[in-house]
Amino acid sequence: MTPEQFLSDYLAAQVRAQEQWAEFFGPVQSTFFRSEFRPFDPGKNVERARQEQILKITEIASGTEIVTTGHGEHHRLRYELRRHEDDYSIDGLEMECGVCSRSSGVRAQCKICGGTGWRPF
Ligand SMILES: [Zn+2]
Repeated sequence: MTPEQFLSDYLAAQVRAQEQWAEFFGPVQSTFFRSEFRPFDPGKNVERARQEQILKITEIASGTEIVTTGHGEHHRLRYELRRHEDDYSIDGLEMECGVCSRSSGVRAQCKICGGTGWRPF
């Protein structure tokens, strides 16, 4: 299995998990909330999960780093995969710094990401 296959499997599993959560939450929404009032919208999470795509794969010393479209523009996700004998695990997950990604480059003094461009998710 390649890191790309592993993460693709994960993204597909995430879609199923979000779909199931949306299904479980439906009765909670209809029982407890006024019909138009939807402070939680699991359907949005389903959509986001369906849209998440792999953008970039980089080999690093500890394994593989994979950047995806994540939560959309300025909020990409970066997964750190560690290789095991015949499998991988996700050992780290970061979100792109929305402040730095909107400026011309990573800001050394950024209070959100500390100048790295990424923050723990
Ligand atoms: Zn930043």
